[in-house]
Amino acid sequence: IPINLNEFCEQVIQETQLLNKNIINFFCEDKYINACIDEKVLRHILINLLTNAIKYSPKDSPIDLELISNESEVIFQIKDKGIGITPEDQQHLFESFYRASNVGNIPGTGLGLAIVKQCVDLHGGKIAVKSEVGVGTTFTVTLPIGNTQKKLHAQMNV
Ligand code: ATP
Ligand code: MG
Repeated sequence: IPINLNEFCEQVIQETQLLNKNIINFFCEDKYINACIDEKVLRHILINLLTNAIKYSPKDSPIDLELISNESEVIFQIKDKGIGITPEDQQHLFESFYRASNVGNIPGTGLGLAIVKQCVDLHGGKIAVKSEVGVGTTFTVTLPIGNTQKKLHAQMNV
């Protein structure tokens, strides 16, 4: 069953926003983007990335979630103006327990992104990061649209 990603994103933003003071802006040019994507998995991906954006940014800095779609895929961009990540650290971010050297006393276990990467892989998607220290970070998640749900459930044994 396809879900409406516009409504879905707004809902996830509301859930995430309850926990913090950062304003999360939602951008999308198309009003109705529907896709067959596992809701639980997508929620997990977005909440993890939004929570990181909040955690690694000053309290008052805005965070953007942008949704873009084309014929075969949907693209989610999570953009922050936080502490940023060095090119060296960017190469290890998706490894379990890896944390960058500039986290200071911001708490974390280094597992969030490793799990997000697994979720994206199970969906046959891609995740990429662009970042500059002291400027900010953008994570881009690209997921194919379509009936990937069956395959996903089989692989996750649910
Ligand atoms: P948790 O397991 O609770 O999510 P975590 O946030 O430390 O802990 P990950 O989400 O896996 O772990 O992120 C790994 C590391 O990548 C972080 O410790 C941090 O160094 C860096 N990182 C992730 N997202 C950002 C971001 N938006 N801005 C700056 N650094 C980030
Ligand atoms: Mg995290």
